[in-house]
This record gives sequence, C-alpha cells and structure tokens, in this order.
Amino acid sequence: GAGGGLGQHFLKNPLVVNGIVGKANLKPHETVLEVGPGTGNMTVKMLEVVKKVIAVELDPRMVVEVQKRVQGTPLEQKLQVIHGDVLKVDLPFVDVVVANIPYQISSALTFKLLAHRPQFRCAVIMFQEEFAQRLTAQPGEKMYCRLSVNVQLLARVSQLMKIGRNNFKPPPKVDSRVVRIEPRNPPPPINFAEWDGLLRICFNRKNKTLRANLVNKSALTLMESNMRTYCALKNIPLPVVSDAPADAAGAVDDEGNQSDTEMGDDADAKNPRRALAAHIKRLVTEALEASGHADSRAAKLHIDDFLALLKEFNERNIRFS
Ligand code: SAM
Repeated sequence: GAGGGLGQHFLKNPLVVNGIVGKANLKPHETVLEVGPGTGNMTVKMLEVVKKVIAVELDPRMVVEVQKRVQGTPLEQKLQVIHGDVLKVDLPFVDVVVANIPYQISSALTFKLLAHRPQFRCAVIMFQEEFAQRLTAQPGEKMYCRLSVNVQLLARVSQLMKIGRNNFKPPPKVDSRVVRIEPRNPPPPINFAEWDGLLRICFNRKNKTLRANLVNKSALTLMESNMRTYCALKNIPLPVVSDAPADAAGAVDDEGNQSDTEMGDDADAKNPRRALAAHIKRLVTEALEASGHADSRAAKLHIDDFLALLKEFNERNIRFS
C-alpha cells in the first residue's frame, strides 16, 4: 500500500479532521497520545486545544514534517514527537488517544492501549469499516466475534462516524469508521489470558454448540496440558481420580489385554493418563451443564454468559492458559 506498508493515507478534508478532534471532547488540561501524526493535520488542531500532544510516528520523514509544521509557533512547546513503532515503544501516561493508523495494526494497537496503565479516559480511533463493525457488534449480529467480546469486556465501544475513502490522499481501498473506546474503570477483575483462551475455543466455530467446541479432542488435550502445568506450578497434585489406582499404568487386565488398547471406562481405570483425560471430559461436561449453555452457540452469547462459563470452569480447575 501507500508509504511502503505504513498505511500513509492522509486526511485531506478539514471538516473530517475537525469532526474527529471534536469527538475527542478535549479539555485544556489534557495530554493526548496521537498515533501516526503523518503530516500533522490532526496534530495541529489538537495542539490548539490541549496542554500537550505526544505523537508516535514510525516514518522519520513524517517526524520531520510534523515538527516543521509547528516550528517557531507557540504550539511547538506543546508537541513531543517519539520516533518509533507504536507497538514497540513504552506508551506515556495520557488522558486521550487519537489515531488514524495503518489498518494492519488495528488489533494489536487496540489491545496494547487497553492493557496500558493507568487507563486513559477515551480513545478516538479511525479503523477500517469492517474492523469497526466487529468491535461494536452485538450477540446475534453477523460480525459478532471473539474481538467484539474481548474489546467489549474491557471497554465501552461506540461508532462515531463513517468516513468515505475520498476524504484521504491517496484514497485507501476501503471506507473507514471512527470509533470511541472508553476503558471500563476499574477494569474487570479477570485473568485476560484465561478469558481469551476460553473464547478462542468457544469461537473456534461460532455457530456450533459450546459442547461441540469444548468437548472435542483438541480442546480437551489443551485443557489437560494446562491442568498439568497449573498443578505443577501450584505444587498441587493432579485431581485424584477415584477409579484410577496410581499403580495401574500399563497394567495387563484379567483377560490378558494390554489396557492401552482398550477404549472404554474400564481401560481408563487402569491407565492414569487416560483416566485424567476422562476426568477432565467429565468436568467440562459438568461445567457446561452447570452454566446452562452446553447447547448455546458463541455467536449468540453475551459477555455475562462467558463470564459465568469461565467461573464454572475455573471452579473445577479447568484452565485455558
Ligand atoms: N494522522 C495523519 C492523517 O490523518 O492525515 C496520518 C494518517 S496515516 C493513515 C498513518 C500514519 O501512521 C502514517 O504517518 C504512518 O507513517 C504512521 N505509522 C505507520 N505505522 C506506524 C507504527 N507502527 N507506529 C507509529 N506510526 C506508524
């Protein structure tokens, strides 16, 4: 794309620039983080209102451009430019984030911002139309996906305005949409890795039942491996499986068959490895039944449903990270 993958499409319509800056509702005492100032169209507008703008820009030519733009004016003192990749630099503490970014970094930037502490008041960000729709999609809507649930767990998200491609120079291939992201404060007391691990499985096929996504070989194998790691780290024994005597590994049964070749519960009883797998499968089924969502589909579940589901699993020491 334009600018060698840097997504350099500059806003050329001043009405749109003013519109975006206006939506941020900036106050004189505030500090703004601007991602990708480019030639500084939005930067200058914001400098006129706020105490300080810290702009992170990857392209050294643009770092020079935006600085030139305020050189010798009173705005110069209020601008700090960080030359670097916004995904790699340590972010400063700010009140507001404003960004018109290259679309490849949409997801990574969103989650980096949402993990940043202390939290900012709000972010006003231009995204590709489709990404913006996924961010704000509600259960049952076509675009509803893991991204919707993850972001809405951490923030309130709303669409602000649609920006046609012709407002940019050069015009990108897709239309854009400006979105407001307001982090939930305080953040939800959730282990995000756990949460996301569960969602990955639930949304593996979002129109299949949770039972189909969770009670299958690859999901169960993952849960077993997580349980082993979890128990080892916490220095707690693996769950005692009542029907699996610890000394029965590789035992030969009464008929002289190697238990490894057996498939049923009887075989489990004599093979601790298989017994653990069977135990986890029972726990998963139990957790699903307890949640009341065994036959629900991720495509229709609300955040509260996923929270309740995670609780049922974690109470049974089933881990997703
Ligand atoms: N804000 C300007 C405007 O609206 O006219 C420019 C927007 S342009 C879509 C994206 C800007 O982000 C470019 O200036 C580009 O060099 C910069 N950029 C691209 N990748 C970046 C990254 N990883 N970190 C910081 N800036 C980046």
